Amino acid sequence: MTAATWLAIAQDSPFGVHNLPYGVFSTADRPGRRIGVRIGEFVLDAGAAARAAGAPSVLLDADTLNPLLAAGRPTWAEVRAGLTAWLTDEAYRSALGPLLVPLADAVLHLPFEVADYVDFYSSEHHAVNVGRIFRPGAEPLTPNWKHLPIGYHGRAGTVVVSGTPVVRPHGQRKAPADAAPGFGPTRRLDIEAEVGFVVGTPSALGTPVPLDGFREHVFGVCLVNDWSARDIQAWEYVPLGPFLGKSFATSVSPWVVPLEALEHARVAPPARDTEPLPYLDDRAGDPWGLDIALEIRLNGHPVSHPPFATMYWTAAQQLAQMTANGASLRTGDLYASGTVSGPDPQTRGSLIELTWNGEEPLKLPDGTTRAYLENDDEVTITATAPGPDGTRIGFGEVTGRILP
Ligand code: CA
Repeated sequence: MTAATWLAIAQDSPFGVHNLPYGVFSTADRPGRRIGVRIGEFVLDAGAAARAAGAPSVLLDADTLNPLLAAGRPTWAEVRAGLTAWLTDEAYRSALGPLLVPLADAVLHLPFEVADYVDFYSSEHHAVNVGRIFRPGAEPLTPNWKHLPIGYHGRAGTVVVSGTPVVRPHGQRKAPADAAPGFGPTRRLDIEAEVGFVVGTPSALGTPVPLDGFREHVFGVCLVNDWSARDIQAWEYVPLGPFLGKSFATSVSPWVVPLEALEHARVAPPARDTEPLPYLDDRAGDPWGLDIALEIRLNGHPVSHPPFATMYWTAAQQLAQMTANGASLRTGDLYASGTVSGPDPQTRGSLIELTWNGEEPLKLPDGTTRAYLENDDEVTITATAPGPDGTRIGFGEVTGRILP
């Protein structure tokens, strides 16, 4: 049974003491950034709470999560146990009550300094859909797809927090019928609904991280929107993969849900029909399928419900793949799952799939249609997962509005 908090929050809040995601916030009267923990519709000033509780506060007295991320799994567990005790033991109420800031008064910042950014491509349904659209008549999955989690290294410096506007990028694009490429604003601006994994503990150069190192190295989980300019991408991606069609912006949710909060969300990954090589073989171990239910809203209207539980490759397999060559992990590395698409049309995680490359535009309740994003459109991705005792774990949201 999960202990109850002394704070007045909704009984069914996805941000109860069973969750306690970490972020970085400031307020109008105190513009300095500090670590916050979300509880209900409040943000607890975590560094001040540690001081008030007489606990070591140095990792929580920071303007970014990176020192906490670097501290490692035993410390993460200690800090979480402390926060849980402070928010459930009535004895802390008078000291901590004044340190709670209404969420509406908090400005939420990028919660950690992003070291390297990697993006995978691990939904079979997404890969098959995109293969059919980009390479009609050919086998939709490339021959390597079921042997390794495919990914690319993205641009860490353009990872932005939810709420940051996204300026429509310019670039080269050339439709198959065009004689020559042109340069201008993308006409096919898209989203990709993904789940992101935040690396805490670094690894040594030359030493791969095995599947069972996932829990030791990964601190927590956030939501990601991998904005994508499809016309730029289609012209530039052969033979080296995504480049400027994606590097202009990647949005993340402001809350990092600790891995520990997701124990009840663990599920078996889907059945796989190809024998994995030993370093990716999780069948005898402790596979990391996660039952995270995503929702995509376009200008407030739900347009899709991608199920993360259907991902072919797990985050543990992605971490093993990312380090199989001995590449080292750094604190603050972020890797994203790849677009989450389920088997049904209404569970697809990108507009290119939802509209079949614009051929079947979405009809919105306001009477307008969308093939791709228009200026001033706003996209929001939210998610929940099962928590203990029938509760839900909330991830908050990642949102962005398109500027010309
Ligand atoms: Ca992606």
